[in-house]
Amino acid sequence: MTSVGFIGLGIMGREMAAHLVRAGHDVRAYDTRPEAIEELAREGAVAARTVGAAAEGADLVITMLPDTPQVEQVVLGTEGLLHHPPAGRLVVDMSTISPSATRRMAGELAKAGIAMLDAPVSGGPAGAKAAKLSIMVGGDAAAVARARPVLEGMGTTIIHVGESGAGQTVKACNQLVCAMNLQAICEALALGRAAGLDLTKLRDVLLGGAASSWMLQNLGPLMLAKDASAGFRIDLKLKDLRLAGELAFELGVPLPGTALATSLYLEARAHGEGANGNQALFRVYDRLSNQATDEA
Ligand code: NAD
Repeated sequence: MTSVGFIGLGIMGREMAAHLVRAGHDVRAYDTRPEAIEELAREGAVAARTVGAAAEGADLVITMLPDTPQVEQVVLGTEGLLHHPPAGRLVVDMSTISPSATRRMAGELAKAGIAMLDAPVSGGPAGAKAAKLSIMVGGDAAAVARARPVLEGMGTTIIHVGESGAGQTVKACNQLVCAMNLQAICEALALGRAAGLDLTKLRDVLLGGAASSWMLQNLGPLMLAKDASAGFRIDLKLKDLRLAGELAFELGVPLPGTALATSLYLEARAHGEGANGNQALFRVYDRLSNQATDEA
């Protein structure tokens, strides 16, 4: 079995790291929150107190961090993986971050003989808990082959999509589909509600036909129950839409739908919903149609 350093034990990382422990890998777990390390240690991981301790003796190190600056700090910082590489000289970043920053980091690591893959995921906390994530991998094919047995412990769809940064680019495409799909569901529910429909029956019909989607399946019940609290935070969704927008700007590609969805998520954040799950977008439609009952 493989020795894996795992850095970033949040909503996603803790589930993913726990699966690797259960699969028999030797997991060395680190997070800036000591309580997150303790939780993983209770699952059977080795508690690492620094980035270097997580990397020590590891075949590879996985990062699952919020955004580009945190990954840059963990990879390039003075206490980071560039200076404390795993013995196997392989870093697999599974966070959702900037494709261009990913290529820059991979270039810096390559100069020191360390390979870096970008391997962001889709499937949310439920996919992480069930080890059924979809993983889109960018980077060198030989490094992908080395990482694959570990990735298979966390996901069921693992596709090598291209060179460094390609995984993050696919993830940006994935996120704009998710954002607009959720927006479409909110609109259908707002219209159905105003027309006096039974929204549970509306959802059941949509799930059985061409309008079905992961969002409707997984977030629909929360939206009907008016539960805005859990899941993929609005703030993280906005980060992903920003990444997609930046990439579109770099490439000169108009994305009018993404721009509109981004504005609606910004409206949600402006009403204090940043820490709520992204299904809290339904509250934007509550406000637009004067159906809001309370705030976040
Ligand atoms: P999270 O905020 O719950 O977890 C991030 C963890 O990183 C936290 O435990 C935090 O303490 C830790 N951390 C922050 N800075 C650190 C540092 N410098 N060193 C060590 N640890 C540090 O986020 P999450 O929901 O688990 O998401 C992680 C990544 O996965 C994000 O990029 C997100 O966009 C992406 N993602 C999330 C979901 C989801 O549904 N939550 C789905 C797919 C992808």
